[in-house]
Amino acid sequence: MTHVDPKAKHPKTALVVVAHPDDAEFLCGGTAAAWAADGWDVHYMLTTSGDMGTKDTSLTREKLAQIREKEQRAACDVLGVKELVFLRYPDGFVEDTAEMRGRIVRELRRLKPWTVITWNPYRSSFTHRDHRLTGQSVVDAVFPLARDPLAYPEHQLDGLEPHRVMELLLAGHEEPDHWIEIPPDAFKRKINALKKHKSQLGQAPIREMRKRIKERMAEAAKDQDFELAESFRRMAWR
Ligand SMILES: [Zn+2]
Repeated sequence: MTHVDPKAKHPKTALVVVAHPDDAEFLCGGTAAAWAADGWDVHYMLTTSGDMGTKDTSLTREKLAQIREKEQRAACDVLGVKELVFLRYPDGFVEDTAEMRGRIVRELRRLKPWTVITWNPYRSSFTHRDHRLTGQSVVDAVFPLARDPLAYPEHQLDGLEPHRVMELLLAGHEEPDHWIEIPPDAFKRKINALKKHKSQLGQAPIREMRKRIKERMAEAAKDQDFELAESFRRMAWR
C-alpha cells in the first residue's frame, strides 16, 4: 500500500530538508536512493552545516563546516541526489524565523517538489532544537506559505510562482503511518552514504552500525509485505 508506484503520473520531484549533515542518511537515505533509482529528482536542503558537533577543540566552526559539507556532498553522490543546498545557519542555533521560512519557501517554489520530507517537529520526547525548528519551519513553509501568492510576494519578481506541495512526510515520528520499501541496492547505498560522514562516525564500527540499522528497518517493515522500510507520518493534499 505504501510502495512508490512506478507508474505514478505525478512529477517525481522530492525535497528533503534536515538540519545537519548525516541526518537525512539516517532518516531517509534508503528512500532517497530508491527514488533516485526510480527516476525521481531528489534534492537536499540542510539548514546548518553541522559546524558545532565535535569534541575536537583544534577545529574552527568554519573548518568543520567545510569538512561536513564535503562529506554530505559525497553522501549525496552515493545516493543519486541531484542537488544539495546549504542554508548555513549556525549549528545549534536554528531559529524559526520569517527569514528562514522565506528561504525554504523560495526553494519550494524553485524546485516544485511533489513530496517534501523533513524532521517531525512534534515529538513528545526529547528532540534536538535544530531538528524541531527545522521541521516546524518546513511544515509552515509547505502549508500555507509556499502556496499563497501574498506570502513572500517578492519571489514573483524572480519568476517564482506559488507552489502546492502534495505530500509531506515527517521522519523520526513516534507513530508512523507510512512505510517505504527499501530494496537491497538502496539499503547498500544508504550505508555507503553514511560511511562518507567520516568526521561524524569516526571510528564507529561500520559492521555494527549496519546491523543495527538493518534491524531497525526490518522492525519498521514488520507489518508490511517487504523486508526493509523507512517509516514516516504522511500528510497528503490530494
Ligand atoms: Zn541532526
